[in-house]
Amino acid sequence: MNVTSVRPQWQQELAQSFTDPQQLAQHLNLPSQWVEQHQAARRLFPLRVTRHFANLMQRGNTQDPLLMQVMPHADEFIERDGFIADPLAELNAGQYGVLHKYKSRVLVILRGGCAINCRYCFRRHFPYADHHFGPAELEQLIELIQNDANINEVILSGGDPLMATDKQLDQLLTRLEQLPQLKRIRIHSRLPVVLPSRLTQELAHRLAASPLQAILVLHINHPQEISPALKQGLALWADAGITLLNQSVLLAQINADADVLTELCEALFAARVLPYYLHQLDQVAGASHFAVSDEVARALLHQLQVNLPGFLVPKLVREIAGEPSKTPL
Ligand code: SF4
Repeated sequence: MNVTSVRPQWQQELAQSFTDPQQLAQHLNLPSQWVEQHQAARRLFPLRVTRHFANLMQRGNTQDPLLMQVMPHADEFIERDGFIADPLAELNAGQYGVLHKYKSRVLVILRGGCAINCRYCFRRHFPYADHHFGPAELEQLIELIQNDANINEVILSGGDPLMATDKQLDQLLTRLEQLPQLKRIRIHSRLPVVLPSRLTQELAHRLAASPLQAILVLHINHPQEISPALKQGLALWADAGITLLNQSVLLAQINADADVLTELCEALFAARVLPYYLHQLDQVAGASHFAVSDEVARALLHQLQVNLPGFLVPKLVREIAGEPSKTPL
């Protein structure tokens, strides 16, 4: 039997991802010398990018805002005070792939892998191998929820939780649906952006049929990421009744610009997604060149308030280790 023929389309596409900077450069017509200058940063965090995402980049442009999010860069070797391996102090906070960070919500590291490796990822040093979420961990999660009446929402995170198969998600949902205290299930994912085929109708219908209200929080940083295929997938999910929100990370040279952010918020709403958070960068080692000062961030927010109706202005926040919620700037 041909195994690939029974794999869902998104998994087949995932298997075709670029992992070699020179191959990506060739695909995009970029100078191989330029890639050589930077590719040592690969060993700090490997390159991984889907063909769909690569095809949204402008050929021949080393400054393309999508390329700069994924291509290893020599600036990742810069050491800057305050930029550390575990900026959110998660390494010792959780167990069994479960992080109980907030009072009413429990965060599950469901899958370690991602379909893309973003250079600014705050979990780029996270030891995913130690956070396996299997059947035993599921039982421990259920017990944790049952022992804490404050918990009413489960957030699936990662890595990327949509790397789990529909069957695995169905099994998890089926167990969670038996806990009457739970109201919502939230999925945080960048996978639809880089693999729109992951937004299957089957999964949307499974979530829509759940007594838990389902929310998909996307991670889109730039209007160029909103492709026709993504819009089509989002329309399927919106039609099924799934609430769609977006969070972006504020990134120097990529989206730290009032016009780009305004266009992003407008494009999100046109794709039936509400802008939710604009995050100040988590200060992770290797990503300091993406940082934007608070002063600039506040000025950008002010400009967004001028340019957009209030419901399209995301909340500007920072996550501070140990705080009970995100901190507005
Ligand atoms: S998709 Fe999210 S978790 Fe994965 S590398 Fe990018 S920022 Fe990190």
